[in-house]
Amino acid sequence: MRYVSTRGQAPVLNFEQAMLSGLARDGGLYLPETVPAFSGLGELDGLSYQDVAFRVVRPFTGDSFTDDELRGAIDRAYDRISHAAKAPLVQLAPGHHLLELFHGPTLAFKDFAMQLIAQLFEIALKRSGQRITIVGATSGDTGSAAIEAFRGIDNVDVFIMFPHGRVSEVQRRQMTTPDAENVHALAVTGHFDDCQARLKDLFNDHVFRDQVGLAGVNSINWARVVAQIVYYFTAAASLGMRPMDFTVPTGNFGDIFAGSIARAMGVPIRRLIVATNQNDILHRALSSGEYRVGTVEPSISPSMDIQVSSNFERALYWAYGGDAAAITQLMDELKAGGFSISQGALEALREQYLSGRVSEEETIAMIRTVREETGQVLCPHSAVGVAVARKHLEPGIPMVTLATAHAAKFPDAVERAVGLRPALPPHMDGLFDLPERVTRVENDAEALKSLILERRT
Ligand SMILES: *Cc1c(COP(=O)(O)O)cnc(C)c1O
Repeated sequence: MRYVSTRGQAPVLNFEQAMLSGLARDGGLYLPETVPAFSGLGELDGLSYQDVAFRVVRPFTGDSFTDDELRGAIDRAYDRISHAAKAPLVQLAPGHHLLELFHGPTLAFKDFAMQLIAQLFEIALKRSGQRITIVGATSGDTGSAAIEAFRGIDNVDVFIMFPHGRVSEVQRRQMTTPDAENVHALAVTGHFDDCQARLKDLFNDHVFRDQVGLAGVNSINWARVVAQIVYYFTAAASLGMRPMDFTVPTGNFGDIFAGSIARAMGVPIRRLIVATNQNDILHRALSSGEYRVGTVEPSISPSMDIQVSSNFERALYWAYGGDAAAITQLMDELKAGGFSISQGALEALREQYLSGRVSEEETIAMIRTVREETGQVLCPHSAVGVAVARKHLEPGIPMVTLATAHAAKFPDAVERAVGLRPALPPHMDGLFDLPERVTRVENDAEALKSLILERRT
């Protein structure tokens, strides 16, 4: 399988190269030249999560990994997800199901992809003897998942930038308490979008990029998207592979874009519904065709507090029929604040995506309502999803809402809604007692570069 950049000016790569580089050298994102059709959709029910993962991921990895290497990586990755089903599907109401993606070590769906790619990185780097520096930007959950997955992995240093004061205490401690030498938490003065912009600066400095062997594991990394395709298959299999809708609490558009790939591979997904909080650029774009960057309004679902949604570029590339020149033009306009989506592309997007936006009050109310109706305590991101999904339920069409994090990761919002602080699972005992290791850094690419050069092991 060959991977091309959405901007058309970077080398065509194989899976391993696309995984190790993250962002393409022309600033674009990698996509497979063609999406493989999946044969055997009807044979998945009853298979383990790991078995389904192997069948779904295999066509994307091409000859980058042997079957044994891939199988071993999948088994080691998902051993660390505590629930036997890994991504259990529970019923919220007749016809409405919750896909629980929060049983991993850092309690958010990002563990599913990060645990797997850490194993794949280790295999690839051992084979080549190469040493790399992973730099990531996080609104909270990516960073904790990356530090947890890569701590102690050979030949890798991990630097994670998070917006100072804008992540929850549990998220922060998950990043600052691991004591492995190769992981470094950086508190940046600014918003998540500033962290993302600085990350792009580092990648666009090709001298620095080559000097430290820069690699990215943000949701723009194609290998992460691939790992996230799997749970659309397992959820659809357990609902009998009939037409269904998915609602996805969305920020950077990685998780929902994985659903779009599953759809292209043949999973009978009718509509993918983008659920946003008050930072609703995607909802505005899909409603009006105008993709315009606003200012970030901090919310109780901080992992979705963004205005520039990186993976949306991939959806645009397809909606524009693979016209890399058009995408390059749009991304230039974005630097000046935004762009208009062409009528044809907007129609192509609307053929599969719907959207909805939820206010802070509605989010709180939904946590309360679901607790009263079912006893289930949702995290605020999942509550945004459920609130949007409930506006789009249709008789006879199953709805699956992705529950993207565990309520205990966001105890303040949950306490405001239902008056109780959800307990952390036992494997996180001691999180509040361990010493923290964190470096404050200005929102400045040069300052970051010197820090990375100095700290790398
Ligand atoms: C990252 C995250 C999201 C947003 O996912 P994207 O792939 O960036 O759209 C939603 N909820 C939680 C809890 C997250 O950690």
